[in-house]
Amino acid sequence: MADSSATTAHPLHPLPTVHGYPRQGTGRELKRAVEGYWAGRRTAGELLGTAARLRRDTWRRLTDAGVSEVPTGDFSLYDHVLDTLVMTGAIPPRHRAALEADALDGYFAMARGDQRTPPLEMTKWFDTNYHYLVPELGPDTVFSADSTKPVAEFTEARQLGHAARPVLVGPLTFLLLAKPAPGVDPAFEPLTLLDRLLPVYAEVLGDLRAAGADWVQLDEPALAADQPPAVLSAATRALRDLGALTDRPRLLVASYFDRLGEALPVLAQSPVEGLALDFTGPAAANLDDLAAAGGLPGKRLIAGVVDGRNIWTNNLERSLATLATLLGLAGRVDVAPSCSLLHVPLDATLETDLDPQVVRWLAFARQKTEEVVTLARGLTEGTEAIGPQLAANRADRHARSASALTHDPAVRARCAAIGPADSRRSQPYEKRVAAQRARLGLPLLPTTTIGSFPQTTGLRTARADLRAGRIDEAVYDERIAAEIRQVLDFQEQAGLDVLVHGEPERNDMVQYFAEQLNGYLATRHGWVQSYGTRYVRPPVLAGDVSRRAPMTLRWTRYAQSHTGKPVKGMLTGPVTMLAWSFVRDDQPRADTARQVALALRDEVADLEAAGTAVIQVDEPALRETLPLRSADRPSYLAWATEAFRLTTGGVRADTQIHTHMCYAEFGEILAAIGDLDADVISLEAARSHMEIARELATAGYPREVGPGVYDIHAPRVPGTAEMAALLREGLRAIPAERLWANPDCGLKTRGWAEVRASLHHLTAAAREVRTSL
Ligand code: GLN
Ligand code: ZN
Repeated sequence: MADSSATTAHPLHPLPTVHGYPRQGTGRELKRAVEGYWAGRRTAGELLGTAARLRRDTWRRLTDAGVSEVPTGDFSLYDHVLDTLVMTGAIPPRHRAALEADALDGYFAMARGDQRTPPLEMTKWFDTNYHYLVPELGPDTVFSADSTKPVAEFTEARQLGHAARPVLVGPLTFLLLAKPAPGVDPAFEPLTLLDRLLPVYAEVLGDLRAAGADWVQLDEPALAADQPPAVLSAATRALRDLGALTDRPRLLVASYFDRLGEALPVLAQSPVEGLALDFTGPAAANLDDLAAAGGLPGKRLIAGVVDGRNIWTNNLERSLATLATLLGLAGRVDVAPSCSLLHVPLDATLETDLDPQVVRWLAFARQKTEEVVTLARGLTEGTEAIGPQLAANRADRHARSASALTHDPAVRARCAAIGPADSRRSQPYEKRVAAQRARLGLPLLPTTTIGSFPQTTGLRTARADLRAGRIDEAVYDERIAAEIRQVLDFQEQAGLDVLVHGEPERNDMVQYFAEQLNGYLATRHGWVQSYGTRYVRPPVLAGDVSRRAPMTLRWTRYAQSHTGKPVKGMLTGPVTMLAWSFVRDDQPRADTARQVALALRDEVADLEAAGTAVIQVDEPALRETLPLRSADRPSYLAWATEAFRLTTGGVRADTQIHTHMCYAEFGEILAAIGDLDADVISLEAARSHMEIARELATAGYPREVGPGVYDIHAPRVPGTAEMAALLREGLRAIPAERLWANPDCGLKTRGWAEVRASLHHLTAAAREVRTSL
């Protein structure tokens, strides 16, 4: 059995390792255990027992696969940033009592809130679809080291006989991801707490060393985003101070998700003994940058040559070439995925419903682990030693690029024929608005909703019944039709102006379309953690995309036939279709976006031909896919907005195009919002008192805007006066001819009682404000 000395026995042999592994277990046991504990069905002991078993299985699997240093501490009952917060002792004051009363319940209370205490805010981990809990810090924050979890998990792995490397979120990333605590000056910068935080890291490192850790990894992905000189000098200081500690483990700083740029020399010249760098995607630039910086003489380099975020098999030959270059640049080179494997599903071989040929193109966590083992072996023993793997890999790549799935000549020809006019409306906005007013005849401050109405248990049960064969298609369809009629009747009663069918037939706004498009695959076991116990199975964009048949026409038509008021057609936009899927790596994302846009464009054309006067194309993911590095943003925004315009550009002047985004902070994408050329945009605004209306007005946004006046994130029912006040606030920035009244987002997560009352208040508020115009 290997022990930690194995890593130093042959220092020049490249070793395979990973930075982290999916936590859930093959049967999502972790989800069941945690939720069972919350529901009182399991004891704390049972939950912790399941967690320990899952860690043990993962380490066993990694060691058996040939991984030489298993990661520890990457496991989490909920979130690794929350774990880091516990490690630093920066518990928000409102949660301290609960944590002192019971460590486990207090931990979950920070994540989920309890009756009296709101949870920490949750946001996206860089540009992944994983969400972490945001630490809240202020000038009064007192840190104190709690190394219990890192030490316990490291010791656990060692006792099981594994060589192990503890992984911690690094101090810079921890502070850069934090936000000012409630009540603290919003301009407060958590990074100013660095000098107070470093002693905590020093203590934890010391404890890990005392427990026998040889190497400890500090993850600093924040350094792969644009960072000002102040952050770089903070990084220099932090690594100098940690490096100067006596009796510490050897330190490895890991950064991933993008190139390090100006942070690379900072890390290279620091006293840490090793770096883990990403050499995939945009981070491939690290290779030249590393050479230009003079390499890492005498240091250990863990080379992230296998993309830790996509689900495709690695190009082993290309990775070997990268590794060969790197061998000349560092004292020792090990091989790893670019980042933790948290962002990919567990095992592609479980996908027995997929064409076995296609399964061979897929690499989930288990396959990526095998890839780094193979690559390390190729470096150590020579490429002949991995001849069979290289041949199979070459054959699979060849089969993939020659496959009819990835190459549909009709789709290719259509994409090649796209001209500039295709992504432009035929008339400028001034002409369109007149035609749309004449056709729609809406009042000032027209009222509408964002699309979905409550997804009741009845609807979910019907869908499950259909899947299980307990009801047939006809019964299910009648259930959907009845729901649509009810949603329409309600909207008529409430006096809404532009109606929706309520989206009862949609399980999910991306999956619903993915299931109906060629080029998309669905997995059965492809779960990835979104946050806490929530796991999603993103569809896989594997091939050329085309539409088999109309996707939304039937229910939109059905809805329109039941009312004299306009019913909005409702589609998910191309950027969001990519952002919430696994995308192919064999062509630029812009090309895939264009294919999706063309398929959606056909749907838009069908809706229009069927008489739909208003069509909404949702793009809630437009901002979250923004590249980490600002230099990459203009080209992203160019293709993203072009894909939206390609979807919507073919309609007549009197067809009104809406778009929707679920947030209010636009910052640098404000100009891109204009480039969408949508006639109406609805946005979240209720909680920020219509701030976005003012921002759009200041930026000279020329078209119609629906800043949300009903916060749908809580079960609360806003009153008429409250929404009227928000509308008046909106009118101070946007003229009445261009202002809409709508909720912040879709209503699918809400209950009918609140929705009913709130929408009655919303239409009453619009009527009230109209009379005062
Ligand atoms: N039309 C969708 C809905 O109302 C939009 C959802 C979203 O923006 N996330 O549910
Ligand atoms: Zn939304």
